[in-house]
Amino acid sequence: MTGVTDHGGGVWSIPVPIPDNPLGHTLVHLLDTDRGPVLIDTGWDDPTAWHTLAAGLAACGTSVAEVHGVLVTHHHPDHHGLSARVREASGAWIAMHAADAEVVRRTREAEPTRWLDYLAGKLAAAGAPEEHLAPLRAARAAGRADALPGTRAAQPDRHIAPGELLDLAGRRLRAIWTPGHTPGHVCLHLEEAHPAAGEGLPGHGRLFSGDHLLPGISPHIGLYEDPDDATVTDPLGDYLDSLERVAALDPAEVLPAHQHAFTDAPRRVRELLRHHEERLAGLRGLLLAAPLTPWQLAEAMEWNRPWADIPYGSRNIAVSEAEAHLRRLVKLGRAEPVPGTDPVAYQAR
Ligand SMILES: [Zn+2]
Ligand SMILES: [Zn+2]
Repeated sequence: MTGVTDHGGGVWSIPVPIPDNPLGHTLVHLLDTDRGPVLIDTGWDDPTAWHTLAAGLAACGTSVAEVHGVLVTHHHPDHHGLSARVREASGAWIAMHAADAEVVRRTREAEPTRWLDYLAGKLAAAGAPEEHLAPLRAARAAGRADALPGTRAAQPDRHIAPGELLDLAGRRLRAIWTPGHTPGHVCLHLEEAHPAAGEGLPGHGRLFSGDHLLPGISPHIGLYEDPDDATVTDPLGDYLDSLERVAALDPAEVLPAHQHAFTDAPRRVRELLRHHEERLAGLRGLLLAAPLTPWQLAEAMEWNRPWADIPYGSRNIAVSEAEAHLRRLVKLGRAEPVPGTDPVAYQAR
């Protein structure tokens, strides 16, 4: 039982498990080319995942050794984790957008103490209480480096150039830059007639959407964490623009990296745009009642469980998401920092 789905036209999906994660699995896609199979994402770096990927490739009539290339939608470990092992076993190239390749490079080279300093400084500026900062300071003082994720991620061999057709023998696959979930996230548009196009399925080709467009999940949009870059980015603004970009492509079918394939991408995009509009309005409502720091805003926001039950690492992610929404509100002129506050509090305007 490999759970492999043949999507027709030389496209398959292989569900590769993610250990201890409610998402369950990553859908690794296999695209047949005249030079051999190309993978879109690879899955989590874990023995079970590796065996599942190998069994899935066998069920598709090929093997890891035959893989010709790996296209990575974004640098997260559930997508890029096994890329190094696939490359070792096959000699395949690995391609990724330059912005995410940069994240991989920085993470590999990062001094763990520098990262801990950055995180502690950022959380303090967001208004995190002392008890939340204490474990970071303790790890810093003890010189503990083991907690840094992503230090073993594979450096890609080539960059995916946005807007261009990828160099794949016998296939028309175009890279669409969709920043937001990560700075270098890409969707890949297969500009070939959908196998069911003759049966009246509307739309154009198929879209490998990574984590950008999922049928039942709103992907995490936080800040693009970068200790070396002080640019004030607007990831939520990037994400909303990227959503409109993929809706305009109007693909006949979307092949996401989690959950399941679906049709009517424009409808799903409208749902997500509405969701974020409502969330921004809700957060502005909270700021109308009283000025809040990003930390206080995260505490007041609605999550999938009460704040008291959110584990330590997830709180950091939640604060990052609160800050991404604050940046968007400030950019839209719907919120502003309260002058003279430290940590900075924000009020509605
Ligand atoms: Zn992701
Ligand atoms: Zn993912």
